[in-house]
Amino acid sequence: MNYKISQRAASLAPSLTLAIDSKAKAMKAAGEDVVGFGAGEPDFDTPQHIKDACAKALAAGFTKYTPSSGIPELREAIAAKFLRENGLTYKPSQIIVSCGGKHSCYNVILATCEPGDEVIIPAPYWLSYPEMVKLAGAKPVVINTSDKTEFKVTPEQLRAAITPNTRLFVLNSPSNPTGSVYTPEEVKALGDICVEKNILIMSDEIYEHLLYDGAKVKSVASFSQAHYDHTIIVHGLAKAYSMTGWRLGFLAAPEPIAKAIDAVQSHSTSNPTSFAQKGGVEALNGTQEHLPKWLAEFDKRRRYAHTKLNSMPGVTCVNAKGAFYLFPNISKTGLKSAEFCARLLDEQKVAAVPGIAFGADDYIRLSYATGLANIEKGLERMDQFCKTLVK
Ligand SMILES: *Cc1c(COP(=O)(O)O)cnc(C)c1O
Repeated sequence: MNYKISQRAASLAPSLTLAIDSKAKAMKAAGEDVVGFGAGEPDFDTPQHIKDACAKALAAGFTKYTPSSGIPELREAIAAKFLRENGLTYKPSQIIVSCGGKHSCYNVILATCEPGDEVIIPAPYWLSYPEMVKLAGAKPVVINTSDKTEFKVTPEQLRAAITPNTRLFVLNSPSNPTGSVYTPEEVKALGDICVEKNILIMSDEIYEHLLYDGAKVKSVASFSQAHYDHTIIVHGLAKAYSMTGWRLGFLAAPEPIAKAIDAVQSHSTSNPTSFAQKGGVEALNGTQEHLPKWLAEFDKRRRYAHTKLNSMPGVTCVNAKGAFYLFPNISKTGLKSAEFCARLLDEQKVAAVPGIAFGADDYIRLSYATGLANIEKGLERMDQFCKTLVK
């Protein structure tokens, strides 16, 4: 049978991360001692009080459809979060709860972009952004950055990438995959350009709470009414509350955009899982006491890994100030990222994600969302591997 695959689906790049990941999993299943740095999720469990709230809702029969964009209680809790933490005023009607932050991103792109539109994406990027843009029929325009600027795009670079077709600029700070964090001044400078050129900003702030070394973040929406009017904030509970499997994300947008996204969602997924939403309410309104503990643990691992990586021959690594990733430069080992990762897995049983998956072939991504003992073991092996490459 000759199946016709839509242009839309056929245009997507197959996930490079999955090839390594499935190999690592197969090796583990075969009893091999694989150390995994591939995780894109915290290794902590969801805090108990959040699970309890969900279990309670489930037991009480809160198992039916909810309003497509989320229950009022959760949208109010999200609006309260934006006011409390970001000084931003959103009405619940400007907030859409979706099935994960990824779904929120997709909704934004689908509701604002169409064929002929260009979307500016700084690289290294979260690998789904360009593919989502392609799914919407629009064109990803990538701006390359390097460790020399801590992977941050400059105002000059942004200006140079803008054309009359530019519709959206994607900003992700703290960043996956690099962990880099834009200062408030840097965010404002990029936001100013978007306001001047009348370009929307999709600001993916899902790692907002995972910050180190005293780093501070400020949402691009918060600099002026004009910035607010040009910004759609994408956020979620996956990372700061370790709720990746719950599939709960949210966005805050100017009213007309929220309305359009509401329509898209109402005809695609409808509401995120009803009882999960009750857990989401508890996550936002309940105690936040897990967070400092997690941050202290992440920070310890980050410091160790950063120092160790920089001691390896052929490897240099700028320190990340956010998220739970490091993005070392491996170009001086003489290998490109895919071969580096394939051989690291074969020869030392260490799984990392090749930078090429994020549009940056001189780097690899290491997630430190795994225990310190594991990190020590894995990096010791990576050190051995690098010593075979660089004499
Ligand atoms: C994890 C992540 C998300 C959202 O993940 P969900 O599990 O869909 O909530 C969004 N953006 C970035 C950059 C991420 O790393």
